[in-house]
Amino acid sequence: MKLREFGQRRAGCIALLLAFVLGMMPSPLSARDFTPSCSSSSGTVKPVEAAIAAAGLWDCTKAASNLDRTGNLDHERHFYRFDLNPSQDSPKFMISRVAKFRSLAVAAIGDGAPVIENHDFTDLKATYFDRQFIVPLPRITPDTRSIVVMVERPTQRSTLDYMRLTDTPPGVGEADRNALILIALCTGLMLMPMMFDFTFFRVLRRPFILWHAALVVAMALQLVTTSGLYLTLFDANLNVVRVMTIGSFSAMVFAGAMFSTTFIEPGKLPERIRRAVQIASGSFMLISIIHMLGIDALGQFPSLAFYFLAVPLMFLFVSMFASALWAGSIAVRYLIVGLGPIMLVGAIRAVSFIIPGMPTVDANEIFLLATQIEVLATTLGVASRFLTLKLERDKVRAEKNVMADLVDHDPLTGLLNRRAIESRFSDLREQGFNTFAVLDLDKFKEINDDFGHQKGDEVLKACASALTNETNRDTIAVRLGGEEFILMIRGQMPVEQAEALRSAIPLRVAHLVPGLDRPVTASMGIIEIPERDFTGMGFNNLYARADRLLYEAKETGRNKSIHERLVSFGGNGSESQPQVA
Ligand code: GH3
Ligand code: MG
Ligand code: MG
Repeated sequence: MKLREFGQRRAGCIALLLAFVLGMMPSPLSARDFTPSCSSSSGTVKPVEAAIAAAGLWDCTKAASNLDRTGNLDHERHFYRFDLNPSQDSPKFMISRVAKFRSLAVAAIGDGAPVIENHDFTDLKATYFDRQFIVPLPRITPDTRSIVVMVERPTQRSTLDYMRLTDTPPGVGEADRNALILIALCTGLMLMPMMFDFTFFRVLRRPFILWHAALVVAMALQLVTTSGLYLTLFDANLNVVRVMTIGSFSAMVFAGAMFSTTFIEPGKLPERIRRAVQIASGSFMLISIIHMLGIDALGQFPSLAFYFLAVPLMFLFVSMFASALWAGSIAVRYLIVGLGPIMLVGAIRAVSFIIPGMPTVDANEIFLLATQIEVLATTLGVASRFLTLKLERDKVRAEKNVMADLVDHDPLTGLLNRRAIESRFSDLREQGFNTFAVLDLDKFKEINDDFGHQKGDEVLKACASALTNETNRDTIAVRLGGEEFILMIRGQMPVEQAEALRSAIPLRVAHLVPGLDRPVTASMGIIEIPERDFTGMGFNNLYARADRLLYEAKETGRNKSIHERLVSFGGNGSESQPQVA
């Protein structure tokens, strides 16, 4: 299936996934949940017993859904009363949202003295879904009329907003189990792109690929922590839950920012916007770390700063997307489809957390769906960008190779040129090419004069073809310039090999260049260097020696080779008498 076809089916896939996810998500408030009937708060540290006794302080006038949960976190202690119908109701747990507070007390009020149980923040247990914690209630008896919960020094309204009693802990019922399976599935699916990313990165070393991997890992971690899936592996105290939740969320924002700014094509995003997004998301990371530390003395401020900074960050993202889209970026379209829904969830959360009096909204169902859309769209984007960049890179590489070829080869004969042999000379010596020959055509000027320059060129090509053989890896032929060639030879009987090549020239030329009235011969000077010796002898030195022998061959009648074998005495080069072949 082509990428484009897949893109067209994307809308259908997403709609299907949406229906699936929404159908399977448990309703946050099941029929057996109880919301508080009355609230009360106190600026001073008031004993729980006193609050329970002071009936006049309770505000029971509002409906449960818009009960005044004070919204004013400056109060030291916040009290909630759940009035029960003793003959029917028997809640067993209190549940709310994890956010830093100092301590919590639950009291069962009946005919006798209230049964009060106190809990420290770190003693409480996390439970499944929506980063919630769960507190067992004191035993409910037939005369239990109400349950009072006291939260001391909360730092986020969500702890108060989401407070409820229930008789079944989350994650136990069949619907809850199904939802957890779905979330686990979504998490697993999200890790697949990470594998692709690592494979992509091996082929194309671009930072955006790694940032994409970081983004999906952070998202998977966020899903695992907010859903409580990790509880199937280990229990965690609430401080650990906070660190995991805030950490994975801010990592998600940071990786998302780094991915977006590196993914958008260079030139399609103004540098100052790129910088601004990176700096703002880095600052967000910093605030998150402070928020994570949960320093008591800072109260609710790190948490507020966390949500407040999210707003300008969101605006920066939007302006980044807008300007890249305006500049004609293709990559940004994938980002808009992918990150849009997540940013929408972020906006809903930030707005509901910041505006006082508004119930805090997590939009967890949308978040789950948004993570899937994000992974799908950005992975498609990364894959398509990967293909484009790889094709571009391969083209550039191929062009480079062609250029390198042009620079190293003689255009007329296709043989290596002087530049090529000089730069490879020491490598070739190390590979055992220890015989060096200079070859020059005899009376070539006359061929040019009698048959024309073009015919001369044909002779040069025919000569080159006589000197090369695709399958012979022991001979390298070079056109040094004009009608002068170099041979470098290794293996058995190199002098004989060189001589065989030289003496093949007349026949090959006669065969390939018809109409010549004479054989075209060549003269040659050959230097044999004993292995491991004369390693320091450079190209120019060898060439000068071989050229001297060539000159001698010309002087003594042409159409012949003269060779010389260098011998060493104690490492210093010396030479034997030249020999005529
Ligand atoms: P000798 O046997 O002494 O080498 O005689 P020669 O005529 O070959 O001597 P010389 O080196 O003076 O002549 C080389 C000639 O090669 C001169 C030049 O016109 C010709 N030549 C050099 N490069 C090319 C080329 O690319 N194509 C053609 N057709 N001729 C070339
Ligand atoms: Mg010549
Ligand atoms: Mg010459």
